[in-house]
Amino acid sequence: MKVVLAGYNVDAEILRELKEKAHWEADNVTPETLSAAYARISRDPRDIEELRADSRTATDKARRSNESIIFGLGHASVAEHALFNLDIIGVSRLAAEAVQQFRLAAYTEKSQRYITLDGDFVTPPGIVAAGLEKEFRATVEFQNDVYKKLYDALKSHLFRKHAGVVATKNGERTVDGWAKEDARYVVSLATATQFGMTMNARELEHLLRRLRADRRGEVRALAEELHRPLAALSPSIIKYANPTAYDTDRVEALAALALEALPRRASESGELVRLVSHTDSPDLSLCAALLFRYGGGDYAAAHATASAMDPGQRRQLVRTALSERSCWDRADRTFETIEFLYELTVSATNYAQLKRHRMTTQIVQDYDLTLGVTVPPNIVEIGMEKEFHAAVERSEECYATLAQRCPDEKDYILTNAHRRRVLTRLNARELYHFAALREDEHAQWDIRETSRLMRVAVEKIAPLTMMMLCGKSDFTARRTEIFDKE
Ligand SMILES: Cc1cc2nc3c(=O)[nH]c(=O)nc-3n(C[C@H](O)[C@H](O)[C@H](O)COP(=O)(O)OP(=O)(O)OC[C@H]3O[C@@H](n4cnc5c(N)ncnc54)[C@H](O)[C@@H]3O)c2cc1C
Repeated sequence: MKVVLAGYNVDAEILRELKEKAHWEADNVTPETLSAAYARISRDPRDIEELRADSRTATDKARRSNESIIFGLGHASVAEHALFNLDIIGVSRLAAEAVQQFRLAAYTEKSQRYITLDGDFVTPPGIVAAGLEKEFRATVEFQNDVYKKLYDALKSHLFRKHAGVVATKNGERTVDGWAKEDARYVVSLATATQFGMTMNARELEHLLRRLRADRRGEVRALAEELHRPLAALSPSIIKYANPTAYDTDRVEALAALALEALPRRASESGELVRLVSHTDSPDLSLCAALLFRYGGGDYAAAHATASAMDPGQRRQLVRTALSERSCWDRADRTFETIEFLYELTVSATNYAQLKRHRMTTQIVQDYDLTLGVTVPPNIVEIGMEKEFHAAVERSEECYATLAQRCPDEKDYILTNAHRRRVLTRLNARELYHFAALREDEHAQWDIRETSRLMRVAVEKIAPLTMMMLCGKSDFTARRTEIFDKE
């Protein structure tokens, strides 16, 4: 056996410095050489190390090989071996949303919970072109003033209310974070953010196509900024990065058809979390999957056996699957066979967190003003709802103007409190992970409530499968209840 560390990501500044110091002339400091070498593994009998040496010494040949294997033969997965780290700085939260909907990537973003917002925001080009910059900026500045007032008032209130926490180590920072996390509900989606993104070349190509098809100028400009360094460094692995009619016309045509069939209407303020559908007989299905995986024979036999089991036997089977699990462990893969489809109504802040769960399918609607806004309970508690709603109303007035004169960019003025619907499919394995993080005591209260409601919706229909579903902070108590008391 032999394992070779063939490559790893290193800060580009270090590479630049090393190249300079070594007077490195070869054009091979690029992840393309790895992709090209790996691309040849399937047909070339030589050791991978030799293939890599070839790629490194003949970069032009490596690039031609990438082009013919990735794009000629269609082995697009080869481009996944080339990985890039990108700093994305000074974009709006709306642009960050557009990027972070792509799931085959890692992101870490500036937190509006931990960092005080300093009023930085993006003025979208379409708004400037429509002659609405002044009104837009005045509205954002109004929102930002309200943010500051709410933050100061929340901070004094919460410092008094949680004096015990404030006195503990890092307590001041924690309570200060609670003030920020609620005050930020009034700031707009134009607010500037920054995030680090790690993505492979295949997914980057997909991302670029979709960003370039976006109707918002900022998002299209971001695509160009992303593509520039990639095209210079690795010209052979990102090729089809321009949108086609599939990216543009399809979306428009579907929107027109949907609008005709289902005219937009005001939303009834319904449930925030609704379980739409789920795998039939989830507990029985999980038992069948467990018997299939850990037993033998075909699925029909496993299902028939699970059906014939009495409730006690089924419970024992599922308990055994969960018994040694700590709150950090992934549930057994068999739990992925049980699926739940939810319709969620979430604030922009809530969605910003929800979208980061990459093992879920999320079908996201546009923001919808008729769904109302999410008001943080602490703002009600300090009696500043009036100021909060003043910011929301002012945003909605500006939104109405933008909707008429530059509709593609109207969402920039909406606040973190505005809502949208998300249809999301999760399997039971991911739901365990989601609840562990999002129903935990450290989770932000808004998504924590969504997570709680999602749990409540499945507990009755899948009591065995979901028996240990809880936030990390409740794990020990739940474990004692299920495994020690029974
Ligand atoms: C309290 C709290 C505070 C947070 N603060 C911030 C913050 O300040 N800034 C910020 O940017 N984010 C923050 N997050 C978001 C967090 O970093 C995660 O992005 C988010 O919770 C999604 O969870 P996840 O990455 O575990 O997994 P999911 O995307 O839900 O995926 C589920 C699991 O699949 C596996 N998985 C998925 N993708 C990969 C992959 N590419 N490689 C390997 N394994 C993978 C992992 O086991 C993962 O746990 C915060 C989250 C919480 C709960």
